[in-house]
Amino acid sequence: MSTETPIYTHPEIKTAMPGPKGAEIIALDKEHMTTSTARDYPFVIDHGEGAWIWDVDGNRFLDMMAGIAVSSTGHSHPEIVQAVKDQAEKYLNMCSHVFYNPVQAEYAARLTKMTQIKGNGKNRAFFCNSGAEAWEGAIKLARYKTKRPNIICFYGAFHGRTIASITANASKIVQRRGFGPLVPGHYHAFYPKTYKCPENLEVPTSVEGCIAYIKDYLFGKLVSPDEVAAIALEPIQGEGGYIVPPKEFLQEIRKICDEHGILMIADEVQSGMGRTGKLFAMEHFGVKPDIVTTAKGIASGMPLAAFIANEETMDWPVSAHGTTFGGNAVALAAAMKTMDLLEGGLMTNATKVGNVILKRLQSIQHPAIGDVRGFGLMIGVEVVKNKNKSVQPDADTRNKIIQECFKRGMLMLGCGSHAIRFCPPLVLTEAQANVAMDLFEDALKAV
Ligand code: PLP
Repeated sequence: MSTETPIYTHPEIKTAMPGPKGAEIIALDKEHMTTSTARDYPFVIDHGEGAWIWDVDGNRFLDMMAGIAVSSTGHSHPEIVQAVKDQAEKYLNMCSHVFYNPVQAEYAARLTKMTQIKGNGKNRAFFCNSGAEAWEGAIKLARYKTKRPNIICFYGAFHGRTIASITANASKIVQRRGFGPLVPGHYHAFYPKTYKCPENLEVPTSVEGCIAYIKDYLFGKLVSPDEVAAIALEPIQGEGGYIVPPKEFLQEIRKICDEHGILMIADEVQSGMGRTGKLFAMEHFGVKPDIVTTAKGIASGMPLAAFIANEETMDWPVSAHGTTFGGNAVALAAAMKTMDLLEGGLMTNATKVGNVILKRLQSIQHPAIGDVRGFGLMIGVEVVKNKNKSVQPDADTRNKIIQECFKRGMLMLGCGSHAIRFCPPLVLTEAQANVAMDLFEDALKAV
């Protein structure tokens, strides 16, 4: 199943970081690229293979973040590359909103059948290019269908970078600051935390508290539920810190939606496409949403996203929504092959190898490792000052751990204010997971 050559067992770092070629490209980038890009360390990609990734100076890294959960089938999986080549030789794109496109119809049939949505089982899909676009489409659909203007979203959320999606975001102020006025009709509620909160933080963190806030404060004082189009959430908050809510929270949200004719939107852009061991993370919670958004790992790195809803929900007139590049044939060919690989063993592998990582992380006895949580290969580690005393977030130590991992040849990424995320390619083997954990423990000792 793994695409990598077995001779590589460990990272290999041969130069100072960055190496000479890397330094040249970084200088060029710094001069000509937008200043808004965020790079945590000086890694300049040359090529990848499975879970390994080389920089332009020939250093080999173990990839434990997959370009933020995107390279689901590993880097340049030969079957994905072949599918892309085969489709590219036929045609690249032919606006799928003007012509019929076989690969789009076939992939839509497959994806909509596999996606668990509330209703009669007959679902429809809209294809676009990015997670933010899928979010925009889902919000438009919810407003259109319900004829209601308002959206309830959550603190800690991240849904993209467009104006509507940053309106819903509430994970980092830099994503919103300076971009107003934002889109009217958005209200934020609290997302439950399963881990201890810092002392003196007087916000609801229990399921009961978070649900009561929606019912008593939002519905009682700010927005009438019969004017709410959607309650929209990530089933596992990604940028917010890989927060896994208790099952009851999502079940309660479903009940509120049913009671008031509100649509439930699950943003599965990061948690979807097999990453948690199931096609969509909502399946772990036993709750079916009304609209699902997906992107990132859907096409192994080709730009593709979708939102999916029941046929009764996605019932809007011709041209109410559309796109030029969405449903691009090459991206869809990659998506079809990605699905073959997910069903052919990668979802099972995510559960198996994820459990190896989870167990190793849970066995670490270190005062900075506060909480470990997740499903499959979507695992978060909360870094705190001293878990044995009062819990205080420790972003500084988190950042140092990531840098120490990089020095040792492992690409990691933070999330939330003080967490580290493990979201490697789903082809990661148990042996590679153990190497990753050895490196992680080593990095931890160094900080
Ligand atoms: N939704 C979630 C949960 C995400 O994690 C992201 C990106 O990180 C997005 C939406 C936005 O996706 P994109 O960057 O493809 O627009």
